[in-house]
Amino acid sequence: MAREVVLSGMQPTGKLHLGNYEGALKNWVSLQDDYDMYCCIVDWHALTSMFNETEQMKASIFEMAVDYLASGLDGEKCAIFVQSQVKEHAELYLLFSMIIPIPWLERVPSYKEKSKSLGLDSYGFLGYPLLQAADILIYRANYVPVGKDQVAHIELTREVARRFNGFYQEVFPEPQAKLTKFAEVPGTDGRKMSKSYENIISLADTPEETAAKLKTMFTDPEKLRMGDPGHPEICPVYALHKIYTGEGLEKIAETCRSGELGCVADKKHLTESINDALAPVRSMRAELVGHPDVVWDVLNDGAKRARDRAQETMDMVRSAMGLTYDS
Ligand code: SF4
Repeated sequence: MAREVVLSGMQPTGKLHLGNYEGALKNWVSLQDDYDMYCCIVDWHALTSMFNETEQMKASIFEMAVDYLASGLDGEKCAIFVQSQVKEHAELYLLFSMIIPIPWLERVPSYKEKSKSLGLDSYGFLGYPLLQAADILIYRANYVPVGKDQVAHIELTREVARRFNGFYQEVFPEPQAKLTKFAEVPGTDGRKMSKSYENIISLADTPEETAAKLKTMFTDPEKLRMGDPGHPEICPVYALHKIYTGEGLEKIAETCRSGELGCVADKKHLTESINDALAPVRSMRAELVGHPDVVWDVLNDGAKRARDRAQETMDMVRSAMGLTYDS
């Protein structure tokens, strides 16, 4: 029996951080044994906002591929590739653009928010949710791993699939969101970890860099010195302990509350836990950075495999639409 298909993607923003690792990558790694996985680095999407910073693109793609592989994604088990290396995404996007009403795109919440806050008004920016639909449907994906906040994005893809299937014939499954099981990872300022907040711990950071960042991490503002009772439930350091410190969690909470534990000592403990957890990722990372050809080979091979599936879909699409002119 054919395996179900999962499509996942990320914009090439360069080195990945703990939020990406816990919120997405670990989940992808756990799926690769049971599904046909396509892991796409969506460089065309990045152009909607970074169209004037293209000189960074190649290096960012490389760093992201390194982080994918160092986190445990296996180029043999899943196709890891760059979106623009599979031109069929663009063909399907163009065909979808003929059948999707503009108001469907204008009502996507992130369009209104970002077009105002980032001053983005390009045709490509308006169309990016449709390109996203093409990215998913070109592989006839059954699932897309996303966080809760992104479930609405999949809905547009489902509507696009329904509309196409209704106009022509059944080509696309309606993909489902596959919710990731990890909670939001706090950054060093207590907000969600995000590159744009400059509060990240990267997978590529050294143990020393990690220690320095954690030293400045926000804690419970009412616990100013050792002896003060703290509230671990509102402390971002404790939120990271919950992810990285296996044993002794309750003791940390208890001694924080009683005032016995000081934040300096606790952060040292967290630093050790995070550095231990990331040690295998970092050592694999260093190995891959030293062998860039291996990384590019994985991406080229992944693009070939993705192209095979995408070409199969485009044959079905052209045939459903009556766009076959070869005889
Ligand atoms: S002791 Fe730890 S958990 Fe408690 S407030 Fe300080 S850093 Fe947070």
